[in-house]
Amino acid sequence: MSNYAEDAAFNDAPEERSSKRKNFLNCADGVRNQIRILTVWKKAFRHYVPGKGEGTGSFTCIGEDCPLCAKEDYPREMRIMNVYDHKDGEVKIWEAPPRAANGVASAEAEYGNPLEYDLVVKREGNNYSVMKAGTSGEVPEGLELYDIPDHINYRTTASLKEGEFEVGDLTPPADLDTDEL
Ligand SMILES: [Zn+2]
Repeated sequence: MSNYAEDAAFNDAPEERSSKRKNFLNCADGVRNQIRILTVWKKAFRHYVPGKGEGTGSFTCIGEDCPLCAKEDYPREMRIMNVYDHKDGEVKIWEAPPRAANGVASAEAEYGNPLEYDLVVKREGNNYSVMKAGTSGEVPEGLELYDIPDHINYRTTASLKEGEFEVGDLTPPADLDTDEL
């Protein structure tokens, strides 16, 4: 089971809105994750509210009236997709930050459609390496996928009320050079 889901996001959402617990790809520092991307990614600007419990975790930025942007918290343009995690044999949601998404784009430029082979994703600190796997594993047929647009719209910063949240890191991330993706 993913620690990310327990520590960071989404599992504190009201039960009636979530029939199924979401699994997230947790790129723990220094750990090699062999995955297959299952769906073309969707972009979303996401804020991260640190802490535990209600009102923490990832939220999709609503733009103009966003209470976190008003506090100069910087949303990151994440690429969100279904992946198959070979280690656990499970479908997971991967919210890839810009550096990881750049790695996927580089693999695609070199090897073609990344839905057709495995990738090895490894995070070290804030850096991601994304490589084509030497040997791709078998991906089962008929996997149940997450509805990514539904996931993106599930929690937005519109649900955050003034004074009831903390802002995270106020400095823009260094890896925001993603316009070309
Ligand atoms: Zn925002």
